[in-house]
Amino acid sequence: MKDSYDVIVIGAGPGGSTTAKTAAEKGLSVLLIEKRQEIGDPIRCAEGVSKLWLHKHIEPDHRWISADVKGSRIFSPNGTVIEMSEEISGGEVGYVLERKIFDRALAYESAKAGADVFVKTRATDLIIEDGFVRGAKIMHMGIEREIRAKIVIGADGVESKVGRWAGIDTSLKPKDIETCAQYLVSGTGIDQNFCNFYTGNEVAPSGYIWIFPKGNDMANVGIGILGSRSGEKHAVDYLNDFLEKNYPDANILEIDVGGVPVCGSIERTTKNGLMLVGDAARQSDPITGGGIINAMEAGKIAGEVAYNAISKNDVSVEALQEYEDRWRSTIGIDIDNSLIAKDIFVKFTDKEFDSLAHSLKGVNFTSMSLLDLLYALFKANKKLLWDMRVLFKNIVKYELDFER
Ligand SMILES: Cc1cc2nc3c(=O)[nH]c(=O)nc-3n(C[C@H](O)[C@H](O)[C@H](O)COP(=O)(O)OP(=O)(O)OC[C@H]3O[C@@H](n4cnc5c(N)ncnc54)[C@H](O)[C@@H]3O)c2cc1C
Repeated sequence: MKDSYDVIVIGAGPGGSTTAKTAAEKGLSVLLIEKRQEIGDPIRCAEGVSKLWLHKHIEPDHRWISADVKGSRIFSPNGTVIEMSEEISGGEVGYVLERKIFDRALAYESAKAGADVFVKTRATDLIIEDGFVRGAKIMHMGIEREIRAKIVIGADGVESKVGRWAGIDTSLKPKDIETCAQYLVSGTGIDQNFCNFYTGNEVAPSGYIWIFPKGNDMANVGIGILGSRSGEKHAVDYLNDFLEKNYPDANILEIDVGGVPVCGSIERTTKNGLMLVGDAARQSDPITGGGIINAMEAGKIAGEVAYNAISKNDVSVEALQEYEDRWRSTIGIDIDNSLIAKDIFVKFTDKEFDSLAHSLKGVNFTSMSLLDLLYALFKANKKLLWDMRVLFKNIVKYELDFER
């Protein structure tokens, strides 16, 4: 490990590795550090991802694809089913990954591009001088070091401290976080062709239960509920009830717990000499909790902006505004729309869920755009049209802009 780099990336998840790869490919000297001793392990993820978006970043490899699904099914509280093809199911349906291998493959890609990668290396603080982040203090295999850099990227996930060290407010209230629990199960006979989602306040208050196939009669069965709805009964209790009722003979091969930020865009993700990426920047989708693709998209932008700023010898917050502008005008639009939808859905009664599902039953989702889908939904459900008028307006504007 050298004493100074152009860029230090803290955290080797999908966001950090994509940033490191992009910056290294541009010719910058890059250090990627990961506090765990094994990249990608333990997982805290249902591992679902859209094929289309993933292909933008990396060639698919059978070693990290557990299942290739046809689409998704959403179950309303009374059992009404909405079935959607993979193309319109959203960012978390397509492949179900093996993240222990996937995350390592992404880190390998960054190393191949020229980044120095170190595991068991934890950032403990930032070096801040004259109002600029100038590097990071790290603990590498039990030894403290100070490594200098022109730009530091905080890609340290949901528990991020980097933003806070730099003075960015990344705090999450209980209503801003989904608390999750998940089992990897086997011996259930679960359909390997679809990702299934179960909604309803009895099953998962202000959240949902998911079943994502993992191949070979295995599946990730998990739950996310809003932190503010976690009282005497915790996420894992709801999950145990669901499993007991539906798959009493399931073998549990792995237990994962974690949190997902669902607060929507935060005010600022840059400071002089610093950018935040992925869950550290709270860029996960507020309604689905999915964050892999957004972290990779933001990482790519951050790597490019780091190169532009360093080339101009200006790493001020003004120069890094390019990062803010680019992620907010792409993934940021989806995040904002999802936040509006989330704020409506978390207040839904089970009756409203059922009525919504009933409105959509029989709609042909295979050939519809999102706009067609919303139109069909709203035609059948006028109250929802009124509740979601801002979202509808945003999406129409977005699609029209996109066509132009
Ligand atoms: C139960 C659950 C299910 C989910 N399911 C899905 C899903 O199906 N699809 C989807 O798209 N998203 C899902 N997500 C969200 C997804 O896992 C995250 O959005 C995604 O991993 C974000 O990537 P990231 O690179 O920003 O952060 P992470 O993947 O969290 O990576 C951050 C890394 O930083 C490291 N780190 C932290 N602090 C330090 C430090 N001080 N020094 C060095 N390293 C540090 C961590 O060890 C970690 O490896 C789920 C989340 C949970 C909890």
